Amino acid sequence: MINDTVIDDTVINNVNLYTSRYGKVTAAPLPADFAIEPTFDSFGRRINYLRISLTDACNLRCVYCMPEDMHFRPRQELMSDEEVLYLVKIAASLGVNKIRLTGGEPTIRPGVVELVRAIAATPGIKDLAMTTNGILLDKLAWPLAAAGLKRVNISIDTLDAEKFHRITRWGHLDDVWRGIRAAEEAGLAPMKFNSVVVRNFNDGKDMLDLAQLTLENDWEVRFIEMMPFGEIGDFQQTNVVTYAEMKQRIEAHFGPLEEAGYDYVDPSRAFRIPGAMGTLGFISSVTEPFCQGCGRVRLTADGKLRLCLLRDDEVDLLTPLREGASWDELRGLMRDGAYHKPWGHDLAHGHFAENRAMNQLGG
Ligand code: SAM
Ligand code: SF4
Repeated sequence: MINDTVIDDTVINNVNLYTSRYGKVTAAPLPADFAIEPTFDSFGRRINYLRISLTDACNLRCVYCMPEDMHFRPRQELMSDEEVLYLVKIAASLGVNKIRLTGGEPTIRPGVVELVRAIAATPGIKDLAMTTNGILLDKLAWPLAAAGLKRVNISIDTLDAEKFHRITRWGHLDDVWRGIRAAEEAGLAPMKFNSVVVRNFNDGKDMLDLAQLTLENDWEVRFIEMMPFGEIGDFQQTNVVTYAEMKQRIEAHFGPLEEAGYDYVDPSRAFRIPGAMGTLGFISSVTEPFCQGCGRVRLTADGKLRLCLLRDDEVDLLTPLREGASWDELRGLMRDGAYHKPWGHDLAHGHFAENRAMNQLGG
């Protein structure tokens, strides 16, 4: 139940302590002169959204995300809870007010509930969401909601159990459904679902089945163009299904879709099957990118500020943090990095990000 968490939020020797039966997180206090100052990049886009990859590891191996024999980074190379929280506070001081936790699979990070509680308590953070494969939500949805998580996006690429198993290399669809129900009961709403559409895997009936879910549920089902990264970039480029194709296939079955509002900061274009309770979204990062409204930066699990998902530009924050850089120095690095955020990707000229796979970036 929602309040089965025994919380003890105290301050000992000037350090915040968040404790419950789910774990313990300590966090350095805010500096006395903490103030929030909005940050803009060189194109005038306001940077207010940080996506944090909490781990590069995962309990699945989706074919579009990582190779089966993926090697993960040793724990000491990844940010500790305290380091995540320190960088979150700096980001908040630069006007970040939305955070999405992702991965790898964020729910497998030990102590994730207490980390969520501490992030949610950071001044300036108004919206805290998570992207997850849903496998562990059956157990974690309630404690995460109680800790301050507001919403989840759950990845589900097909409703066919056998195909789901194949796409994820060993996942069980039943586990995801249990997670979805738990998330809904815990109030992690509005519920959104992500489906990466891969040619010859889930670009037929699977899309229609997923779209059908919106007829009787107030959910948003989002179809995502597969993006190319790192060593599986060739597979991804060859098998991308474009936004135009996806929409056309859905309309061939359900009839013309209605536009369902336009939000220029949202990467997903929203539509509705006439009369449906929920909506469909299309994320066309490859063929029709949405860079003009992009106020997102990312923190990789190993503590690099990633300025654009589809470009390799990064600013190392973890090394200077571990070498004793001050709050002001790290804040300067983050602010200058954000200022130099590139406009958009260069996939049209065949250039894609090579230094990382999606699980290290978080999507
Ligand atoms: N493990 C969590 C999950 O699957 O939801 C969070 C991390 S995952 C990397 C974040 C999102 O990226 C998921 O919705 C996933 O479907 C999507 N994704 C992974 N690889 C992708 C690719 N090559 N192109 C587009 N989206 C991708
Ligand atoms: Fe894991 Fe998410 Fe990547 Fe699938 S998409 S392998 S669930 S990190």
